[in-house]
Amino acid sequence: MPSMSMDVPLTIPAILRRLGTHFGDKTVVSRRGAGALHQTTYREILTRAGQLAGALRGLGIGAGDRVATLSWNHDRHLEAYYAIPGMGAVLHTLNLRLHADELAFIASDAGDRILIVDDDLLPLAQSFLARTPIERVIVVRTSDAPLPAGMLDYEAVLAAADPIALDADVAEGSAAAMCYTSGTTGRSKGVVYSHRAIALHSLSLGLTDSFGLREADTVLPVVPMFHANAWGLPFGVAIVGANLVLPGRELCAPSVRDLLASQRVTFTAGVPTVWNSLLQLLDAEPGAADLSALRTMLVGGAAVPESLLRGFDERHGLEIVHAWGMTELAPFGTIARLPSRLAKASADVRYRYRATQGTPAPFIEIRARSEQGMVPWDGDAMGELEIRGPWVAAGYHGSGVGGPSFTEDGWFRTGDIVAIDPFGGIEIRDRAKDLVKSGGEWISSVALENRLMNHPDVLEAAVIAVPHPRWQERPLAAVVLKEGREVSVEALLAWLADGVPRWWVPDALVFIEAIPRTSTGKFLKTALRECYQGWYTSA
Ligand code: AMP
Repeated sequence: MPSMSMDVPLTIPAILRRLGTHFGDKTVVSRRGAGALHQTTYREILTRAGQLAGALRGLGIGAGDRVATLSWNHDRHLEAYYAIPGMGAVLHTLNLRLHADELAFIASDAGDRILIVDDDLLPLAQSFLARTPIERVIVVRTSDAPLPAGMLDYEAVLAAADPIALDADVAEGSAAAMCYTSGTTGRSKGVVYSHRAIALHSLSLGLTDSFGLREADTVLPVVPMFHANAWGLPFGVAIVGANLVLPGRELCAPSVRDLLASQRVTFTAGVPTVWNSLLQLLDAEPGAADLSALRTMLVGGAAVPESLLRGFDERHGLEIVHAWGMTELAPFGTIARLPSRLAKASADVRYRYRATQGTPAPFIEIRARSEQGMVPWDGDAMGELEIRGPWVAAGYHGSGVGGPSFTEDGWFRTGDIVAIDPFGGIEIRDRAKDLVKSGGEWISSVALENRLMNHPDVLEAAVIAVPHPRWQERPLAAVVLKEGREVSVEALLAWLADGVPRWWVPDALVFIEAIPRTSTGKFLKTALRECYQGWYTSA
């Protein structure tokens, strides 16, 4: 029997209509370049986005064409976020921390036709442009420095444009945006999000037990707009009508702290490193900034050590909420909001739960598989997490639906090794490629890292698998100490032995200055493995 419900497509134009109709007066505060803060409204952003869309149309951009951005988090990047999918084209955010060769590959693979770029990133853009199909470059300028020949000035382009409505008649299943995976192993792969995927994802961010975004919020995404669409926040704020604060390129802890305080930010999001640096700063200068408006600090992208949750809670009264996601998921997958059954549990139990990755968002389904088949949900057995849902990729750009990262019945294989508890809460134990396989048994590098990072003298720790003559592989820990602290290798190994099975304890622990990182701030374990691969075999 056919239903009598309206078949209204779930699209970004529909989100933008809502934003303009109901929340036009709400504010967007943005740092432009290294300069002062610029304040505007969504109404103004949407007007200018309409001009940008008109200009892009004038440059030959039509439905489905890819327009790339190479930009920090700021208001003009937001205009591109709304203009491009709003006119039916495809927003492709390029990661400004990647190497020129990788960017050349990505822009070519995506088939980008126009690039919108910040002036301070022009040298990077010029190092790969010639190797891409990009036809025109529009530069967002923060100074009067002359433009390279042939490039267009963003403001001049907008001023000269005939604006168009951001109301493209697009099918909800058509492409709205693209992001490439960070490619820590092998080549980056393109993920193409549909309007429907982004619309449903944005709705989910407003649920109380997920991000819990709401109209009264002032949201500061520290996570870059090129990292999985700043975790969907630019569309999430549009659906709920929250104010937005964009930090530009000033991402060091003092600058983030000052913005959080001066703008009375209520919700912020970033990777653990960002919050780790902020915690060090707050500890060093207690009371220097008033962060009393802040109700949620979302952390994701890498596992959060329990010590970070405790540090913010116990010393500063600030709540960290831990979520897991992937570029392939737009990116929100699971979140560790404390369930009511644990409301009266001991502090240790509550912290322990909040340091896991938590339960899936609505419509996201999970299961985990080991070599023996599907693993039981007993909180112990480990397997690779498989996932499906309306905002999960069904394949990669250029490869069609399916492929090696997908199961025969169409679930996405995440490459993350998890244990699932009886309530369907996941705990990431490792990346499949980072697991330590010692004498045929799995050792969780994440568990070792968390234990090490809970030590009061340790700032960061990464554990890698290193070839071993007897056990095939054994763990090796690379540790960064907090400034001015000293602790012996033996003391740290004893600390580990107190918290994990004895045979998991690494055979070697080295102190290093800093842990190498990927373009999105995760530990770059491949670099560490290269460095230490002969440690046990040549010793
Ligand atoms: P990306 O697509 O670059 O965001 O990377 C996704 C990967 O980051 C996931 O497959 C995980 O390995 C890792 N990741 C993301 N969030 C978390 C988290 N909360 N805890 C542990 N690992 C995470």
